[in-house]
Amino acid sequence: MKNLSKNIFLNAVVCPTLGWLLRSEQYIEGLSDKSLTLAERFRIEQGIEIENRARQLFPSGVLVEEKQMQLAAERTRALMSDPDTAVIFNGAFLSDGFSTRADVLQREGKGWQLIEIKSSANDKKEFIDDIAYTAMVMRLAGLDVQATSLILISKDYRLGMSNDKLFLEIDHTDEVLVKVAEFESVHTEIDEITRGRNKPEPVLQRECKKCPLFAECLGKGIENHILHIPRLSQSKFDSLKELGIVCIEDIPADFPLTSNQARIRDCVRTRKPFIGKQLRSSLEAVEWPAFYLDFETTMTAIPLYPDIAPYTQLPTQYSIHKYSDVGIFDDHLEYLADPSKDCRRELAENLISNLEQSGSIIIYSSFEKTVVNSLASLCPDLSGKLTALIDRMVDLEAIIRNNYYHMGFQGSTSIKRTLPTLVSEMTYDNLEIGEGSSASAAFACLALGRYDNAAAESVKRNLLVYCEQDTQAMVKLHERLYEFSHLMV
Ligand code: SF4
Repeated sequence: MKNLSKNIFLNAVVCPTLGWLLRSEQYIEGLSDKSLTLAERFRIEQGIEIENRARQLFPSGVLVEEKQMQLAAERTRALMSDPDTAVIFNGAFLSDGFSTRADVLQREGKGWQLIEIKSSANDKKEFIDDIAYTAMVMRLAGLDVQATSLILISKDYRLGMSNDKLFLEIDHTDEVLVKVAEFESVHTEIDEITRGRNKPEPVLQRECKKCPLFAECLGKGIENHILHIPRLSQSKFDSLKELGIVCIEDIPADFPLTSNQARIRDCVRTRKPFIGKQLRSSLEAVEWPAFYLDFETTMTAIPLYPDIAPYTQLPTQYSIHKYSDVGIFDDHLEYLADPSKDCRRELAENLISNLEQSGSIIIYSSFEKTVVNSLASLCPDLSGKLTALIDRMVDLEAIIRNNYYHMGFQGSTSIKRTLPTLVSEMTYDNLEIGEGSSASAAFACLALGRYDNAAAESVKRNLLVYCEQDTQAMVKLHERLYEFSHLMV
């Protein structure tokens, strides 16, 4: 049986069943088989770099290098009892079966200041829980935690500034103390439940929707779960739970739902898609030739180029499919930035030229509008032309949201749901880069010079293929919707 770690404890606070599953050896073995995506690997590497840089803020710090928890805890104890050690990195604590590691411990009188490092530019509620768990385990180990704080990324940092300008420290002592008291009141119970022989009976809650084990737990065998209903309020969720209803098809006709929610229930009940009366006219509003547009962006904690704030979303490439009418291909245009420099202006100029003067620009979601707006702010002299592009945009997702529903969407109109449902022959499975976050990570790795020449060329090709596939997917979705709209009399 594993020690109770931070991850298990914090999950168990939300759901004891999840905590129990995460603590069970069987489940952990299953998880270790999962290989990381490029995006996940990049996120981890970025986190390590931020942590290493943050440690430079404490030149006298001593790192606890031991990986094995027992050894690491012994080493931490030895360092803490040495008055000459003022700062400890990655200190380990094992107490009553609870384990944790502290990013930074700074001696303060007879006690310690606990500092957690996060590679985020925004303070978040979950960070308080995170520090509070470590503070609780330290207190269980008999230590005096005098203060707690967070080190975050400063949005004021720019490339070339000294390392200390990359960070911002925020004191959270008061909030953490409140949370520690809360955790201390339940820690024994959570330990007992999660180490028990029997899995706690799962209890449906709205948090289940985001649970990584939902499909194997309460979602198992239920094709149309009530959690698939978008924007289901807590009170409606509670009412359905009280009625013992977990399948959408069992929701009574007189149960109060919004029109969108009722449409989803009716589609599930009849097992027929909904085709709205406005579908045809919405599609007919498209002016030809039309340009299907998709951007890719990248975003890093440490800016890739000068004069850019941390976590600025940088457009790096686009794909355009030009069609002269539904199903009549005209041209494919694309752009991929030179990763060695900030190419946003060049991208904006090419975009204006490629999208010509007229014709609808078909997008999926409001993301493309946000990107073009950011380019307009960056290049005021181009803002008139860029804003004119926004005026020509037709959002295919909005057309679907208002006029079409298929139960395969499972309550979502994101392209991840609509494409496999409506264009099942189109897949990203055989692509080297098959999702946006990996495209973002791949570009960042190119900019950071992490590939040799041959590998860099291959990554660039894969990026172009991926972005082209995105606009091709929009073309296919549009064609399918067009067919549906002509089925209507
Ligand atoms: S699906 Fe719900 S009940 Fe099951 S483990 Fe996840 S959060 Fe817990």
